[in-house]
Amino acid sequence: MYSKRFFGLHPYVPGEQPKDRPYVKLNANENPYPPSPEVAKAVREFDVSSFRLYPDPDALALRESIARMLGHGVTPDMIFAGNGSDEVLSFIFYTFFDSDLPVAFPEHTYSFYPVYAGYYDIPVRKVPLRADFSIDADALVSGDSGGLIFPNPNAPTGVYMPMPELRSILERYPRDKAVIVDEAYIDFGGETAIPLLAEFPNLVIIRTFSKSFCFAGARLGFVVANPEVIKAIFTTKNSFNHFPVDALTQKIGIASCDDSGYYRRINAEIASTRDSFAAALRQSGWEVLPSLANFVFARKAGLAGKDAYERIKESGILVRYFNIPGITDFVRVSIGLPEDMRRLLEVMKSLG
Ligand code: PMP
Repeated sequence: MYSKRFFGLHPYVPGEQPKDRPYVKLNANENPYPPSPEVAKAVREFDVSSFRLYPDPDALALRESIARMLGHGVTPDMIFAGNGSDEVLSFIFYTFFDSDLPVAFPEHTYSFYPVYAGYYDIPVRKVPLRADFSIDADALVSGDSGGLIFPNPNAPTGVYMPMPELRSILERYPRDKAVIVDEAYIDFGGETAIPLLAEFPNLVIIRTFSKSFCFAGARLGFVVANPEVIKAIFTTKNSFNHFPVDALTQKIGIASCDDSGYYRRINAEIASTRDSFAAALRQSGWEVLPSLANFVFARKAGLAGKDAYERIKESGILVRYFNIPGITDFVRVSIGLPEDMRRLLEVMKSLG
């Protein structure tokens, strides 16, 4: 009854979403603040009778709003919108990576990349991080590969690659192979690679509304790339799921873009909470990797990540650890409200 293909699947395992007790959830890099009041208004005013009709398959009004919000000369034909960036990533893997050469990505990175590579039968080359857990740009571009993908800042480390280094990757990599930069966490302090699109036609940037736009429950992600690349992704989308972004999500996506000042304020708040939390954690003997994301990756000598996770969970707070050789001693902590971080700090100080 089941296909041979089915038995080869190795699905992604997300951070736990328990409903049994009211945990403070700092394990999925969700935003602790509510969406903009403009989003609440757009939901209240949404014309439910429009659900009778299919949504705009090209999400044009939404893409116009995204382009306007991004600035940098981005036009709507440089935007593709999808049902969360995980779906966008699926289209990207299908469109740009083949089975004859491996896709290269950092050894420790977003764990959905190997899942999609397996799904589409694309070989993988995992490039070790440097000793300081930064992405090794030289190693990434050397050797044969059919394309590159990495997040900036990287996940789960939070470590950011400065623009000159990212540019040096693009300068050295063949222009006929795609370089995908996943900017899921760029709004928490990093500099976007969007200005490089004018120079590098093979650069493809992915963004999500899930983190900096408080939108993980509504599902919206997008691509910023040159118009030819966007056309190619539309071809893939139209061969799989013609209507990936529903009508309500298109409306509230527009409302979010139109109030981007609100998000800039709360994300600056998160970045400042992150920096003071990381500093206090370091003072109490933890090693914290430098992060420009809405999470930090931290370890304490002699303490396993799993033990730290369990003892933090006992106190009613959920964080995440990874049972992956090389990073088993770390916990990843999403940045929540200042009062949640003060509580977590007290718990983490007492560990080890
Ligand atoms: N890219 C990275 C690096 C992520 O950490 C995540 C969130 N797990 C995603 C993409 C997917 O985000 P979403 O599907 O919610 O847009």
